[in-house]
Amino acid sequence: MYLRKETQARELALQALYQRDLVEDRTLEELLNFCERRAPDPVRPLTARLVRGCIEHQPTLDKLIRRTAENWKLERMAVSDRNILRLGVYEMLYRPDTPAKVAINEAIELAKRYSTEGSPTFVNGVLDRIYNTYIAHRVQPDPERAADLHVHSNASDGSVPPSELPAMAAKAGLDAIALTDHDTLEGVETAREGGKECGVLVVPGVELTGYAPAAEGEEEVEIHIIGLYVDVEDEALADRLEELRATRTERVRKIAELLQDLGEDIEAEDILARAGGDSVGRVHVARELVERGVCRDVSDAFNRFLAQGEPAYVPKEHMTPAEAVKLIRRAGGCAVLSHPGLLADMEMYLPELLEAGLDALEVHYPRHSASQEKELMDLAEEYDLLVTGGSDFHGEAKPYISLGQETVSFIELHKLEQRALARV
Ligand code: AMP
Ligand code: ZN
Ligand code: FE
Ligand code: FE
Repeated sequence: MYLRKETQARELALQALYQRDLVEDRTLEELLNFCERRAPDPVRPLTARLVRGCIEHQPTLDKLIRRTAENWKLERMAVSDRNILRLGVYEMLYRPDTPAKVAINEAIELAKRYSTEGSPTFVNGVLDRIYNTYIAHRVQPDPERAADLHVHSNASDGSVPPSELPAMAAKAGLDAIALTDHDTLEGVETAREGGKECGVLVVPGVELTGYAPAAEGEEEVEIHIIGLYVDVEDEALADRLEELRATRTERVRKIAELLQDLGEDIEAEDILARAGGDSVGRVHVARELVERGVCRDVSDAFNRFLAQGEPAYVPKEHMTPAEAVKLIRRAGGCAVLSHPGLLADMEMYLPELLEAGLDALEVHYPRHSASQEKELMDLAEEYDLLVTGGSDFHGEAKPYISLGQETVSFIELHKLEQRALARV
């Protein structure tokens, strides 16, 4: 039978992977030698690339297969099936020149030739599911497409419902947004539904608050960490977010008490009722103060009462910034230092964040100056951090910010996605 050289390469690669699976101490060198002896000249580089790639990325490949083939323990699968799947997933994830459909069909063909009767159907099922969950929505590194990676909805303290954000984004000329509500993932699913209708990609995200311990005689510093591409199904993250939201509610009660002590006529229950969303915060208190005519606008409320150092300031639960980074990474996301330009001395906190596994800096942000962005770009380069950007849109709560005011292109988004995929 005549086989195309790609197909021959896949067969040889499968044989090499099969051997490695059976005899664990086979080195990459030995496997490549094995392929070299059998591969005709034009097939050799292709084969080597497949073997090398599958081995290098095996932890990621296996994680995806494990997650998808839930009823089939990876260890209990036929050796051939396991390695056919690895090869197929590898090609879908890391070989942009091979269309996913081709990778799946080739895997099915391998299953027909090298495995048992039920195998082609099994391989087809698992690869289709992996394609639909992890591959179909992936972005291409396109410099023309724009993403605003910092957006709040009324699931936290923004004013626009998550269902309406994608259409707004489309109008603003955006191709993607990341929903990054404070301490909640509640809006993500709804926003995604909305995004499907108008062709706007919605990246699942969350914004956490870390507190850097205060130096002697100084105030502690709030450090916001955004998680992009977090797994909305991750239970550890969901549990932690729920705790954080519970303390947010308690905190609003404390803030209301402080305001009452200051002589203001305000009720915690009114604030909580008006907030309506999942995650309540100072912006909701500020809106209530505006509503009652105590303050001119939200900024006024922060400046007189709610900002750090003002008389009704109450911190949230004390998570350290490093904990926030780790929590996000464990949930499969990329950890981003939000609006670093707002920190008085960000380089003081950077070592700890890097140590915890920080992935990116939010370089592009409405309140960053051009020279700050330049410095942040240099830092990102120096520490091998990815670059993000976004508006921090909140709707009416921050009327001076528009959706899509700051963006990055799909080149940056693609890199973030790649990094998160390797972490599933
Ligand atoms: P919270 O998570 O409840 O502490 O609220 C944090 C949010 O309050 C931030 O994300 C901002 O949207 C908003 N915020 C913080 N400081 C100010 C300020 N000075 N003026 C207006 N909004 C602010
Ligand atoms: Zn906010
Ligand atoms: Fe923030
Ligand atoms: Fe924000």
